[in-house]
Amino acid sequence: MSAYPRPLPRVTPDNLPFWEAARRHELRLQRCGACGRIWWPPGPVCPDCLSERFEWAPVSGRGRVSSFVVFHKAYFPAFADAIPYAVVQVELEEGPRLTANLVEVPPAEIRIGMPVSVVFDDVTPEISIPRFRRAP
Ligand code: ZN
Repeated sequence: MSAYPRPLPRVTPDNLPFWEAARRHELRLQRCGACGRIWWPPGPVCPDCLSERFEWAPVSGRGRVSSFVVFHKAYFPAFADAIPYAVVQVELEEGPRLTANLVEVPPAEIRIGMPVSVVFDDVTPEISIPRFRRAP
């Protein structure tokens, strides 16, 4: 048990729809209404064509680990009770990369290219980034 409250997800006006969808157990990212590009992190314009038209579109939640870091100290207070732990970059099938926590995989077993899928646990103050697990 931490001696201080754990941080809430870093909810901003840009990423609020992402967390609202996560609470409904959906993974949604911004999709450009002009060129169709799906992008992350969130922003007010498409990074390809600068269009301001976009929607929050559902994505598959499947991807592969493109990089990872194993932490041996409490760099993020939210994970102080689980050391060591890994933070991974997941390259989604749709293209964008998400920073995520990989659960149920010992840090020594994490490999670049490992297939993973999103975990739709309830969003709680303990979860400050999306969580993924190994895909079959
Ligand atoms: Zn675009």
